[in-house]
Amino acid sequence: MSSQTERHEFQAEVKQLLDLMIHSLYSHKDIFLRELISNSSDALDRLRFEALTKKELLPDKELEIRLEPDPKNRTLTLHDNGIGMSRQEIIEHIGTIARSGTREFLKAAKEKNQPMSAELIGQFGVGFYSSFMVSDKIMIVTRRAGEAEAVRWESTGEGGYALEAAERAEPGTSVTLYLKPEDAEDGMQDYASEHVLRSIVTKYSDFVSYPIRMKVEKREPERDADGTYKAGAPEKVVIEDVTLNSMKAIWTRPKNEVGEQEYKDFYKHIAHDWNDPLETIVAKLEGNFEANLLLFIPSKAPFDFRFRDSIHRGIQLYVKRVFIMDECKDLLPEYLHFVRGVVDSDGLSLNVSREILQQDRQIKAIRNHVIKKVLETLKEIQDSQAEKYLTFWKEFGAFFKQGLLDWEEKQERLLPLLMIQSNHHATDFTTLKDYISRMKPEQNTIYYLNGPSREVVGHSPHLEAFQQKGFEVLFLTDPIDELWTGRISEFEGKKFQSIGKGSIDLGSEEEKKESEETRKNQEKQYKDLLECLKSGLEQDIKEVRLSNRLTSSPACLVSEAHDLSPQMEMLMKQMGQSTSHTKRILEVNPAHPLLGKLQKVFDADSKNPLLSDFAKLLYGQALLAEGSPLPDPAAYSQLIAELMMKAI
Ligand code: ADP
Repeated sequence: MSSQTERHEFQAEVKQLLDLMIHSLYSHKDIFLRELISNSSDALDRLRFEALTKKELLPDKELEIRLEPDPKNRTLTLHDNGIGMSRQEIIEHIGTIARSGTREFLKAAKEKNQPMSAELIGQFGVGFYSSFMVSDKIMIVTRRAGEAEAVRWESTGEGGYALEAAERAEPGTSVTLYLKPEDAEDGMQDYASEHVLRSIVTKYSDFVSYPIRMKVEKREPERDADGTYKAGAPEKVVIEDVTLNSMKAIWTRPKNEVGEQEYKDFYKHIAHDWNDPLETIVAKLEGNFEANLLLFIPSKAPFDFRFRDSIHRGIQLYVKRVFIMDECKDLLPEYLHFVRGVVDSDGLSLNVSREILQQDRQIKAIRNHVIKKVLETLKEIQDSQAEKYLTFWKEFGAFFKQGLLDWEEKQERLLPLLMIQSNHHATDFTTLKDYISRMKPEQNTIYYLNGPSREVVGHSPHLEAFQQKGFEVLFLTDPIDELWTGRISEFEGKKFQSIGKGSIDLGSEEEKKESEETRKNQEKQYKDLLECLKSGLEQDIKEVRLSNRLTSSPACLVSEAHDLSPQMEMLMKQMGQSTSHTKRILEVNPAHPLLGKLQKVFDADSKNPLLSDFAKLLYGQALLAEGSPLPDPAAYSQLIAELMMKAI
């Protein structure tokens, strides 16, 4: 190494990752080549994009990716004449991990405590580092387009890397892998073999839109001057430059000419996903201008999907087969951000910028078409392949519901796509339409209950009267449900109503008349007791009243129709918004023997301190039953312990 060599340490996470790479017995090593080619293809895309405004960056030669195997020295070099990296860029991009999810990857790999599975690597897309599965050492020589200096990066994958100034005639990047000798013993893993490389490229990278070339040796008999073979002439070695991939822009080909497998492979390439897509959508927009759409609904959410800022590819925008940008947000509303694919428009200018896109009429038309196609496809899957639809829903449903908050979106086309759990089935999901078809003749409201999970909501005391009447109640357990139910009031003419809010009266008109009389008497009977219970809970409760919704539990908590629910209050606190604490209503069950007993205690001595203790206990119980936290758990358990002592 020369005197100017700098040594850099890998970031701690990279060390861990490399340690896993080097020592894992991963069986799909081939993917390293797909990752390197994809990096080169990205680098060429970026060069092409920068060259739209700086023409001088384009090389005289065609943009290409070149493989150069050297079986004698057991190396494989991958060259590209793309954007390259400056010294600073190589330090930032190779040797550190910017991705928010990598820590999770390492955790997942450790937890499974097994060789990295294909699924893991595919899902996390560890990119460049996967080359250490097949190499003892890697050298990169790279020169940023527009700069004169090149830099050489070298590493064995242990500890760190060396950097030094280097020479490179043209901008671009060359990655040389010093292949592990043991792989040569297995014919199919000999990555210096022309035939192995050829087969990997066709398998994974056929549709890469730049030529992937390689010089191959051919033996053929010498020819005469007129081109005919000389009989019995000795063979000579001819070096031929071959292009290994077809480069066909798959989205421009008619659907019936493209095999399903080709679509799947293409999806994996652009989405950096190991899994097959759940659905492929091929569509064309015709009219004043044309656009080809090739869209995919993934079968699994990328594990880092919930990190909003994480890199994800979204929809790629091309203009006449020229790559313009990744993750073109203007083509998708937020709630469909899981959709992947390509939009290729013939009508846009190559110089479109992100700022212009927002107002572009064509982009708006394409966006509407994308939304229409995706929603239509989802509806078709929902109608004809219930299980497949559930796979989608479980991965993306909570995310999809954001659309219900989208002011530009027509809710009539989103609501039918919802899948919701209810007390009708133990585990299954229902659509709103099916819910309505099961409604009792006397029922004209869609009942729902919000809560933290299916288990908690399913056991909530609020359900009791509904269960008894045979009314179905929807369980809304995603935080976002609180928001959309506040906004959307009905579906197909039926109003939504939370059974945890407001007053509820389920009986028929006749029953109501009958019960009114009894209720009046009960209210008179318990009036003073209820006041007394309330006085012990002034901080949290605005009223203690008799309940219509309980049949077996002694008490539950409800909110006024327009009050914030406790989940919503918590959500807003988590988001750092200050909200005043909303007092709720404690409903007690007049049919429960406890109430009669409390009345006796009250009649004997209305100042008995036990009454305030019981009020606190009832309140605590009601909180626990709906899955809410107790404000002071220690005080609550002490109260129980004291009462237990008295009871024994
Ligand atoms: P990913 O490509 O998924 O972002 P990698 O670890 O494979 O992750 O690569 C890290 C970064 O290094 C890339 O995002 C890119 O900025 C840079 N890089 C890798 N290969 C090349 C290349 N051939 N030319 C230019 N930059 C590259």
